[in-house]
Amino acid sequence: MRPIEGIHHITLITGDAPRNVDFYARVLGLRLVKKTVNQDDPSVYHLFYSDEDGSPGADITFFEYPGAAPGRTGAGMISTIVHRVASEEALDFWEARLAGEGGAVRREGEGERLWFADPEGMGHELAVSDSGDPALTARSREVPEEFALRGFEAARALVAEPSPSETFLSEGLGFAELERHDWEARGERRGGRLLLEGSAQRGVQGAGTVHHIAWGVYGDEMERWRERVMGAGARPTPIIDRFYFQSVYFREPNGILYELATVDGAGFDADEPRETMGERLSLPPRFEAMRAQVEPTLTPLPDTSRWRPVPARSRS
Ligand code: ZN
Repeated sequence: MRPIEGIHHITLITGDAPRNVDFYARVLGLRLVKKTVNQDDPSVYHLFYSDEDGSPGADITFFEYPGAAPGRTGAGMISTIVHRVASEEALDFWEARLAGEGGAVRREGEGERLWFADPEGMGHELAVSDSGDPALTARSREVPEEFALRGFEAARALVAEPSPSETFLSEGLGFAELERHDWEARGERRGGRLLLEGSAQRGVQGAGTVHHIAWGVYGDEMERWRERVMGAGARPTPIIDRFYFQSVYFREPNGILYELATVDGAGFDADEPRETMGERLSLPPRFEAMRAQVEPTLTPLPDTSRWRPVPARSRS
């Protein structure tokens, strides 16, 4: 089997979708590549932010639970998402930009990392990357291209006891330990890491916390991955068709919800033009007949096109 292609996407919970769009599309300069509904509850959104193409490796997604109580990060959860940036100057840019938005922001390590929280408290970090992987950037009127986020570097996970999680990463998913508690999945296209930290306090899921993290695999190997993780003690779901990609879910030994998602699925331009992805509500085929009932019940969201680059055809 080919190795895992790093982090495919990370899915969180938001209780405030309009503020979420403002932060991730305007402040962070990501592209809202898909505005759709939760396939298990079509009365609420599932929002996908990513690079220009909606690539696996840069895709951060949110289930909307309107008014959800804030969660608390703890054992059995992803605590922090680490994104790549190109330079020290990018860290300076983001430190000033995020402070100007009034959010929590601070330098960490010896100043080589920038930590910040989103408006609901989710922790993010920016790190200068020398991975050599292709940069996954979105274009935005708000964020100069040289400072744009370039895709996931890692996620930090809190666990009660690292060793069973690490055995599972190694045997179930083929990760390699780079340094103590620092595990990497490096595929043919890109790599991603999971950094484990001990925590005695159990997490509480809610607004501003991670629901699950997905790792990238190839579609023709999904069934073999299911068998492999079963062999390592997990209890995977059947393969689920998410329309844009295929998915399998299971919990790792400390309770973190993992997903395997295909890197060679239909993609976000499967049901709308690439140029205007994310601007209109997309409904998977089995929900399309319900559009007239679904659309009026959804929370109105900011129009993200005002933060997008001016289309080439209207310049001159
Ligand atoms: Zn997912």
